[in-house]
Amino acid sequence: MGGIRKIDNIVLIRLSDMDSNIYLIDDTVIDSGTGFNFTRLFQALKILKVDVKSINHIINTHGHFDHIGGNGYFVNADIAIHEADAEIVENGDSEKSYADFYDGRLSPREVKTRLKEGDSIKVDAMDLEVIHTPGHTPGSICLYDSKSKTLFTGDTIFCDGIGRTDMPGGNEEQLKSSIDRLASLEVRRLLPGHGDAVVLDSPKTVAEVMASPPSSEEED
Ligand SMILES: [Zn+2]
Ligand SMILES: [Zn+2]
Repeated sequence: MGGIRKIDNIVLIRLSDMDSNIYLIDDTVIDSGTGFNFTRLFQALKILKVDVKSINHIINTHGHFDHIGGNGYFVNADIAIHEADAEIVENGDSEKSYADFYDGRLSPREVKTRLKEGDSIKVDAMDLEVIHTPGHTPGSICLYDSKSKTLFTGDTIFCDGIGRTDMPGGNEEQLKSSIDRLASLEVRRLLPGHGDAVVLDSPKTVAEVMASPPSSEEED
């Protein structure tokens, strides 16, 4: 499994079932995968004619290894992550990141921006609003651009279900209230941390999408 899918100005790179989705937008990536499959990552970037050194920013949706393990491959990128998960990155915490489970090694990295609820991050034409959605981890975030109705959900929700709470930092009650917060948001593009994206012709609420996930094309 793997592939590249272009969704307007957003490129979805999937390296393997283990890696998080990597979203490439202009000079920013959202999540970086495990770092195990860097050959595939570099192949994908080559196909896209993107130099890895031209990536200036990484936004991590949360501090799990499958989303942050590849941060180091983007040598010129600074890192933004919610303040509640920032220490996982800064300490290279193998327990809280779940790196041990993946047999991965995490090097400590500096966090440039500790994100908070309501922060806004300009990426290309999008103004991504940080929505703090704890539950999967204490510092899980979703990112929402209200203009294009684009929602990056990390591991909080997927196109066919909700995130796990049985991993380090998980809390079922928090996840429930986070999902309640997202439910009324209008989305045209729901871009999760794993699995395929959903792209709709007309906006629906997250609750509607979750109730009946539209079939979306598989690509490769
Ligand atoms: Zn994940
Ligand atoms: Zn996760």
